[in-house]
Amino acid sequence: MLPQEIIRIKRDGGALSSDEIAFFVTGIVDGSVGEGQIAAFAMAVFFNGMSMDERIALTRAMCHSGSVLDWRGFDRPVVDKHSTGGVGDTVSLILAPLVAACGAAVPMISGRGLGHTGGTLDKLASIPGYDVVPANARFQQIVRDVGCAIVGQTGDLAPADARIYATRDVTATVESIALITASILSKKLAAGLAVLVMDVKVGSGAFMPSLDRARELAASIAQVGRGAGLATTALLTAMDQPLAPCAGNAIEVRCAIDLLTGKTRPNRLLDVTLALAVEMLRSAGLAAGDAEARAVLDDALRSGRAAERFARMVAALGGPRDLLEDPDRHLPVAPCRRVVHAPSDGIVRAIDVRGLGLAVVALGGGRQRADDRIDPAVGLRDLVPLGHVVRAGEPIGIVDARSAADAEHAAARVAACYVVTEGIATKA
Ligand code: URA
Repeated sequence: MLPQEIIRIKRDGGALSSDEIAFFVTGIVDGSVGEGQIAAFAMAVFFNGMSMDERIALTRAMCHSGSVLDWRGFDRPVVDKHSTGGVGDTVSLILAPLVAACGAAVPMISGRGLGHTGGTLDKLASIPGYDVVPANARFQQIVRDVGCAIVGQTGDLAPADARIYATRDVTATVESIALITASILSKKLAAGLAVLVMDVKVGSGAFMPSLDRARELAASIAQVGRGAGLATTALLTAMDQPLAPCAGNAIEVRCAIDLLTGKTRPNRLLDVTLALAVEMLRSAGLAAGDAEARAVLDDALRSGRAAERFARMVAALGGPRDLLEDPDRHLPVAPCRRVVHAPSDGIVRAIDVRGLGLAVVALGGGRQRADDRIDPAVGLRDLVPLGHVVRAGEPIGIVDARSAADAEHAAARVAACYVVTEGIATKA
């Protein structure tokens, strides 16, 4: 077999066999398939797609390109969720300890921020001492002891994905549903999961802004996941406004801690977290139905058991033992603060969520180039939601920045992201 013959079949719209796909993926890992060949293959798939059987074969081959974690003999179901990415999406930090407190094991392998979206790994890296890439053995031990651990992908889990992804990133081939499906699922299968719940975002802050494309991605992931032996379900959730009322790394960690400790309970963040958690408990057989799952989750939150799991996970991974008692002592705070004012009286009718994410990136809270260092302290807070009634000059958000000039610039960008219809505010 030759890599170029495999590319030719896909270029001409043919279907690849499992053996051909496995051969190509093996070549990606051992270096016999070159960068240009990966790019050509990705572009051929981008234009001609892949059948479900091809996607399953690609997912399996990429999963087995490195180590696969083994949880045999473990007494709890091993479950995880994965989001396609959004703004103010701090769900993972709440969900993993919450579901762990209800009897599941959650080995969550998360990613860095991508484009305008925030990454769970970058958020956790804002906690001093937190080791985001422990060795696999330590990661597994912490999941056994605590019930959950949120970490980054080590080099030996699905290494084929790392190489294919890097090439896709610079060859305009990221937005292929077949390749996204295999990329996400290969990593999840390599983590040894029994159950996966996908959170597919749709709206102005999502990678798939249209409902049709988001549905197509959700169906592909669910079908391929099941075909590869992983019990997979997918929920579509709205990303037409930030999920939390904030965006930024340490800022979102604080928001998650406040929700876990009951200090604040932002509605949308809590609703999406609970919907995903219900699906995880039901799929894992830890609850018979929605009502039972909700009752168990509510108890884990209100009793503080979920917060306690989060604290233990942070400590086990090297973070401060008293992070929950005293977050302000440990989490970085930006030196400059600037309030964003509503331009007119009215109701918030639309929010350019991608624009808000890009404002965070411009503040230094995300990367403009792959090797950029993140400023963990900067971001946006107290963002008002859709439907909020405002008067001209009232605050619609707060910018936390490294300098006054950055704050000024970001405030103008944030204001431009809000569409406020004028003249109909009726406030008591
Ligand atoms: N996230 C992934 O892990 N892979 C993709 O291809 C897109 C999003």
